[in-house]
Amino acid sequence: MRIAILSRNASLYSTRRLVEAAEERGHEIDVLNPLRCYMNINARESSIHKHGKELPHYDCVIPRIGASVTFYGTAVLRQFEMVGSYPLNESVAISRSRDKLRSLQLLSRKGIGLPTTGFASQPQDIPDLIDMVGGAPLVIKLLEGTQGIGVVLAETRQAAESVIEAFMGLHSNFMVQEYIKEAGGADIRCLVIGDKVIAAMKRQAKAGEFRSNLHRGGSASLVKLTPAERATAVKAAKTMGLNVAGVDILRSNHGPLVMEVNSSPGLEGIEQATEKDVASQIITFLEKNAKAHKTRTKGQG
Ligand code: ADP
Ligand code: MG
Repeated sequence: MRIAILSRNASLYSTRRLVEAAEERGHEIDVLNPLRCYMNINARESSIHKHGKELPHYDCVIPRIGASVTFYGTAVLRQFEMVGSYPLNESVAISRSRDKLRSLQLLSRKGIGLPTTGFASQPQDIPDLIDMVGGAPLVIKLLEGTQGIGVVLAETRQAAESVIEAFMGLHSNFMVQEYIKEAGGADIRCLVIGDKVIAAMKRQAKAGEFRSNLHRGGSASLVKLTPAERATAVKAAKTMGLNVAGVDILRSNHGPLVMEVNSSPGLEGIEQATEKDVASQIITFLEKNAKAHKTRTKGQG
């Protein structure tokens, strides 16, 4: 197959591993910076260009679109979908997953366990908003944060009120969430491919920190999932419409709670913690599933 990876940096671990795995399995693979791709959108035949030339046809596209370029990156991916390339994850599913609130709304509709979450815009609603999630301590999250940045633990009601007021004053979009204390600063990253969790790791926050992100100094270790955790992770990925996803779960005393679903999960932490060849499994998924014009939305979303 001829595969394109949409990634701004060919030397990133995940990009390198996917290139390696594809070449090992006899595929031709190019790394394309999505910001360098530009598009001709017209009624007859749309096309994608780079460096003054039309790109060749790719059978599959692996999007590795950074959070800071979601808008442009998903537009490029949509264009690939329109010319019939099979996307590992669809553009609509990526856009959905990048908005934490929208994701939780979709997951809640399917009855998937979530930390109780509130969303409001007016300062007069702050007291009720805080009560809705069970009072302090509580977590406040910017809707488009990533790598733990934009996630705040407010330990007291007073702290919660002032942080919420500040965010409202800045007109930033954020949500307020029940703090799952019993998770003990740990969460479980489940790597889902298709309808299976193929690797999982526990991430533990460093001392004095509640965010377990590896980028915030968290450490990874092997973990054995319960059947309920496995089922929850697969259902969450499916609900988002993602073929490949990193589903983050908190272990609460009332079962697994999904915190977020990542559409471009990093491979470095999970391959190292589990010693699994995740990159090859992604390529194998494409070999089994890629077909021209086989997207749920045909780039319409
Ligand atoms: P990001 O997209 O920035 O990674 P997350 O929603 O995943 O944001 O939150 C970052 C980390 O903060 C999580 O990995 C988890 O360790 C911790 N965390 C987030 N929400 C909660 C919560 N409701 N209760 C307990 N810990 C939480
Ligand atoms: Mg996270």
